[in-house]
Amino acid sequence: MVQAMIIMWMCSGLDGQAPSLKRAEQITGKTLIFYQVDLLDKDGLSEIFKQHKIDFVIHFAAMKAVGESMQKPLFYYKSNVVSTINLLEAMIIMVMKENGVYNMVFSSSCVVYGNPQYLPIDESHPIGHVPNVYGRTKFAIEQMLEDICRAEKLAGSSWGSDANTLRTSALALVFSTAEYCAPVWEGSCHTKLIDTQLNSTLRIITGVCQPTRIDWLPVLAHISPPELRRKEATKKMYQKLLDSPDLEINPILQSPPNHRLKSRKPIWSRGNQLLSQNFSNSEAWTNSWISTDIPNKNLITSPNVKIPGFSLPRREWVLLNRFRTGQGRCAELMKLWGYTKDPNCACNVPQSMSHILDDCPLYKFNGGISNLHSVTPEALNWLKDLPLRL
Ligand SMILES: [Zn+2]
Repeated sequence: MVQAMIIMWMCSGLDGQAPSLKRAEQITGKTLIFYQVDLLDKDGLSEIFKQHKIDFVIHFAAMKAVGESMQKPLFYYKSNVVSTINLLEAMIIMVMKENGVYNMVFSSSCVVYGNPQYLPIDESHPIGHVPNVYGRTKFAIEQMLEDICRAEKLAGSSWGSDANTLRTSALALVFSTAEYCAPVWEGSCHTKLIDTQLNSTLRIITGVCQPTRIDWLPVLAHISPPELRRKEATKKMYQKLLDSPDLEINPILQSPPNHRLKSRKPIWSRGNQLLSQNFSNSEAWTNSWISTDIPNKNLITSPNVKIPGFSLPRREWVLLNRFRTGQGRCAELMKLWGYTKDPNCACNVPQSMSHILDDCPLYKFNGGISNLHSVTPEALNWLKDLPLRL
């Protein structure tokens, strides 16, 4: 259902009275919100993205005279390609990174197929060898969209998957690779670099904001902290080597050589230590959770237990975790992070995540944070109906 339609235009001279707008209002039965913004005006554009929850963008704005494009190529590249880059940047920053998904319809041109090799042209016809500047701007944008999709799929998006799928994929692909040689480099100062990447993976699974405290990430993703998993892998490997008398390293482990350099941390010293301490991943995790001091900590009695909500749709799962951690795109934090100027809610008091949940006369949930955390049916309905993009 169309909640709001935002029309952005790059030409001047429109006043919101165009017949096509009136027709769109008739079809949708909604009053449309109209903005006249040049797509080359980056600030104006991102202001619109900040003000509305945008699920879908239909991008038709372009210059399209073939003859003129041959005379004014730079003007065409700027009007068509640069404007699309601005729009995509606004979308990626404001829409995709927050919701994990975005949708776009882009009006390209059949010119991208070049001189036809057969007729009628269908979608499997080869593209490229475009004969004019107008067509080349459209072709360039198509290539750009393809590249962005590929990069986002590889690097950051959730692909619309639920948290269970993301967690399993992360364990199978990311964590197993990171831990493959853990016993060798566990003691290295470079492990921190790997941990940073593993923590970003946990952020993708849980959908929490960047400033969320790191202690939350393993608990929400139900994957124990990287440094503890590494210790466990080291202990396991050490035990395996001890149990294999045929291996050449075995006699060395039985009577290890003296330490020569302080900076070296061979597996026999760390493995032996972990074994003699009877290191347990789950115990160490519980102890570190007990000693942390973060808001809403009492929601979690044991960090080893999987929290509710893993099978929820992406939007509700992400919202839920942002309320659990108290870190979301509420007005107060958006001001703190430098995105907006006004920290207040529509009810005129500072809008924190807990204000929305517990105090706000417009939005509050009567069940409180503990019912929200347990995802009661009422909590799920509240999350689904909440009209805010947090
Ligand atoms: Zn409020």
